[in-house]
Amino acid sequence: MRSLKDIDIKGKKVLIRVDYNVPLDGTRVTDDTRIRESLPTLRHLLGGGAAVVICCHLGQPKAGPTPELSLAPVAAHLAGMLGLSVPLAADCIGPEVKKLIAELGPGQVLMLENLRFYKAETSKDVAEREGFAKELVAGIDVYVSDAFGVAHRPNASVTEAPKFAPKACAGLLMQKEWEFLHGRLSNPERPYMAVSGGSKVSSKLGILKNLLGKVDNLIIGGAMANTFRLAQGIDMGASLVELELLDEARAILAAAPDAGTQIHLPVDFVLATSMKDTVPAVASHTGPVPAGLMALDIGPKSVLVFAEVLKKAKTVVWNGPMGAFENPAFAAGSIGVAKAIVASGALSIVGGGDTDAVVHQAHLGERFSFISTGGGSFLEFLEGKELPGFKALEECS
Ligand code: ADP
Ligand code: MG
Repeated sequence: MRSLKDIDIKGKKVLIRVDYNVPLDGTRVTDDTRIRESLPTLRHLLGGGAAVVICCHLGQPKAGPTPELSLAPVAAHLAGMLGLSVPLAADCIGPEVKKLIAELGPGQVLMLENLRFYKAETSKDVAEREGFAKELVAGIDVYVSDAFGVAHRPNASVTEAPKFAPKACAGLLMQKEWEFLHGRLSNPERPYMAVSGGSKVSSKLGILKNLLGKVDNLIIGGAMANTFRLAQGIDMGASLVELELLDEARAILAAAPDAGTQIHLPVDFVLATSMKDTVPAVASHTGPVPAGLMALDIGPKSVLVFAEVLKKAKTVVWNGPMGAFENPAFAAGSIGVAKAIVASGALSIVGGGDTDAVVHQAHLGERFSFISTGGGSFLEFLEGKELPGFKALEECS
């Protein structure tokens, strides 16, 4: 994959695809993490004398231009962060936009309006996407992809635009994701361990199946573990379980030994009557869960068992909280496991929206080797799928 650092950007018109799909409260950006993550690449481009054209999407507009999904608040927020003016073009393609791009000077920024105002951006028809991508890169010298958050989407601005730009490369953020995910996880230092949690086996089934045989140890927590425990014949009371996945869970447990992966399940749980309880009914429960009670976090004994396993790890990948961490009464398991991962000294890679939230809630962000900026894209990577956004960049370098 061609790196931004190998490309001459001085005096060039550079189109950069970023992931600024940020939460808004009216016209106020409530979480600017995604914007902040793009700043190193933007500063590199501006400092190097490029004229920078930013393109991205916001939300899922159903029927063309939707004023509530205009990028105006995002452009204003970025302007504040960069200390530069960031005018927003009224469109993302067309003669007016071309004119603005032609007039844009080195060190200046222009943001294009929401890409998804055009159905072609997300069209299943490749020819339609190609037509839109060609218009998008008109007047552009270099295309830079820095939107790992949409790398799993075959969208025109992600997968077709690099084909039609005179030059295309990965931005600094995209390159870092590539180095850690592809570089460090394709031939990991062993023991290689995965910690998997979250609410549903159904949403993580692909990951569990893909990791079986790849990792030496697979630690399962969160509500997912409830389904696995029930599959082993342990009553889980009122806990969140997926009855239709009991057979899948049994199949995974049965396949693990031959695949060379040791699976570790929680040995105790924190029980309560509801996710809203402020104090657990039982702080550490072993055995069948009584009727009316829910397992809402892994218990302290499980944290110790998991930490003992993790101690030997040389590489750890983590997705999915160990409990309903949004309530502090059920956050100890996730925080305990987060601490055990960083204490192991292993190369540690974390991803997933909620997992990211746990890590930051525990103020451990700096202690992990890498926190992926992808949600869906990180999960698809862990499922073993080839990400179209990576593939497109590989093919044009
Ligand atoms: P990520 O976004 O990191 O991929 P998920 O979305 O799969 O993670 O899972 C996070 C959700 O799982 C959180 O909302 C959390 O409350 C929930 N969860 C974890 N453990 C439990 C549990 N034991 N009971 C109910 N919900 C749980
Ligand atoms: Mg989530």
